[in-house]
Amino acid sequence: MNSVLYIHLSKLQQNLNVVNSMIGEGVQRMAVVKDDAYGHGMIPLAKFLQDKVEWFCVATIEEAVELREAGITNPVLVFEIPKKGKEHIYAEQNITASISDLSVFERLEPGTDCHLHFDTGMMRLGMLPSEAKKALQMMDQFPRLNYSGLYTHFANADGNASPTVSVQLEQFRNIRSQFPKNLFTHTSNSAGVLYHHEKGLFDGVRPGISLYGYSPGDEIDGLQPIAEWRSKLVQVKPIKQGEAVGYGSRWKAPEDGWLGIVPVGYSDGVFRLLSGKIQVEVEGTLYPQAGTISMDYMAVFLGEKKFEYGTEVTILRDGMLSAKKWAELTDTISYEITTAIAPKVKRVYLDQ
Ligand SMILES: *Cc1c(COP(=O)(O)O)cnc(C)c1O
Repeated sequence: MNSVLYIHLSKLQQNLNVVNSMIGEGVQRMAVVKDDAYGHGMIPLAKFLQDKVEWFCVATIEEAVELREAGITNPVLVFEIPKKGKEHIYAEQNITASISDLSVFERLEPGTDCHLHFDTGMMRLGMLPSEAKKALQMMDQFPRLNYSGLYTHFANADGNASPTVSVQLEQFRNIRSQFPKNLFTHTSNSAGVLYHHEKGLFDGVRPGISLYGYSPGDEIDGLQPIAEWRSKLVQVKPIKQGEAVGYGSRWKAPEDGWLGIVPVGYSDGVFRLLSGKIQVEVEGTLYPQAGTISMDYMAVFLGEKKFEYGTEVTILRDGMLSAKKWAELTDTISYEITTAIAPKVKRVYLDQ
């Protein structure tokens, strides 16, 4: 095994505590575990969370079925527009469908639990506010569906000063006033919870990234990345000042020293764009990654330290080694970093 992604479940608990502290009593937690829990492993995390949150949210019906097959009995909301030919699965497996398009009403099986999803400004999925009346007519026309919820999704909730949140909320409150009062209502992703909770959270919240330990905007105290990615040095060799390392010979040793080879590369999810920009930790000290990251390997300049073959190396964790740092270095977001960690990297769960 070239590397292992350790997942600290105690940190997941701590992150959930941070979310809990922001939402107060009575608001239900709808943990977003789509896309293999952002790369951390959906089933082990769902098992850990099943008695700590009320709901799970996933992107696809296939993910929802995976949860059911693993014995998860919590309510599960699927974000996607039900796929043609797979509509029957919702009612069969007691999975909640999103009605994000007027055409969905007539396709769902009687008895299907569903949440109406309105697009109040994200311009991705969701019915438009102008379609609210038509949606109400559809509810009359298809009375055998179980209409239990109503939601929207924020387009800009990553900073404290996102004016669109208030605009979207106003739109949403207006839509909500047209629908039955008993619908279970939810609007907030992590950023909504962390930065805008005072604007109102309704009945449930949909945190994703915060559970995995990353703040989508300004750093929030108490959130800790749950992932720690470690590998081992597979070779340590002397290098002379001025000798070049890696494809393109883009990096040259600033002084005589030792070079460590780590068997992790861009095929594992360490973007080639990070070449020469990241650091790794060996025995408590940070060392610079040196030269172009290749498909299966990267080099690390160890200076005068000649570590043994097999010495452990931490690639990703927190602070300077966090996915947030990597994201800054490559002009992306932590979500893309963790979801890019390849399935071939074994996930190991700690503090079960
Ligand atoms: C992914 C997603 C979330 C979770 O967002 P985070 O920023 O990870 O908290 C919530 N709601 C919807 C509709 C989503 O697609």
